[in-house]
Amino acid sequence: MVDRLVNSEANARRIAMVESCFGSSGQPLAEQGRVLVGEGVLTKICRKKPKARQFFLFNDILVYGNIVINKKKYNKQHIIPLEEVKLESLKDEGQYRNGWLIRTASKSFAVYAATATEKEEWMAHIEKCIEDLLRKSGKQPPSEHAAVWVPDNEASICMHCKKTQFTVINRRHHCRKCGSVVCGPCSSKRYILRGQSDKPLRVCLQCYDELSRERVRPPNQQQTSANTTPVKTDTAGSGGDSSGDEDSDDDDINAEEKHDEPKFYGDSEKTEETNNHSSKEAAK
Ligand SMILES: [Zn+2]
Ligand SMILES: [Zn+2]
Repeated sequence: MVDRLVNSEANARRIAMVESCFGSSGQPLAEQGRVLVGEGVLTKICRKKPKARQFFLFNDILVYGNIVINKKKYNKQHIIPLEEVKLESLKDEGQYRNGWLIRTASKSFAVYAATATEKEEWMAHIEKCIEDLLRKSGKQPPSEHAAVWVPDNEASICMHCKKTQFTVINRRHHCRKCGSVVCGPCSSKRYILRGQSDKPLRVCLQCYDELSRERVRPPNQQQTSANTTPVKTDTAGSGGDSSGDEDSDDDDINAEEKHDEPKFYGDSEKTEETNNHSSKEAAK
């Protein structure tokens, strides 16, 4: 009965709307049993600066994209399977309020809601979806997560050697293990971080040492060791090979949006809020 409600025509209509807003830049989203749980704008911390992103919470995936035209057109669609997601609440700090981390094995980032209530709602809905999914599948949540990148502007000097000043020539690089902003020479090593890629990735010298040390320890002391493989490199790290494409989702139109409250369409427990044609439309 509940399933019938959430799988209602309204749900199908909402999902079709999301698909049409992404147009050909997005994946087909309609799937048997998929429910759009909520949507709204969150501020995502990107490499260069915080940016408004439209988020769609489904019962099995989290989808977000850049806002081209509010409520009409989105692009740069990202789809994150919720089974892989772990949330971590962030403390309010200065201008950064109502935030939390969305962490997966391959990518982790911080998002901020406009108010504390919205943060609570978002986190509760996401957590609930994850819980339901894991209960159904019997899977374990992943134990390892990608580092959250320190935004460029938070480091004017290398976080490893604490000497190199970043300039047009001395470019910033990100350690894929700890997320620090480091200079070329301090990130000349590569390491295979299994959750993120099969290819060796840039790591800072400190992480390289730690990863290499972990690897020789017995596996029962360090779960991470099974997941990582060192790669020798001899480049001095002078090549500016990476910065430009490190965070591909952030070269884009920066949509300045007025604040819209997120909408949650009710989940399997809350049937009174399922936003059928009746109550909610009439209330507006
Ligand atoms: Zn350095
Ligand atoms: Zn590091």
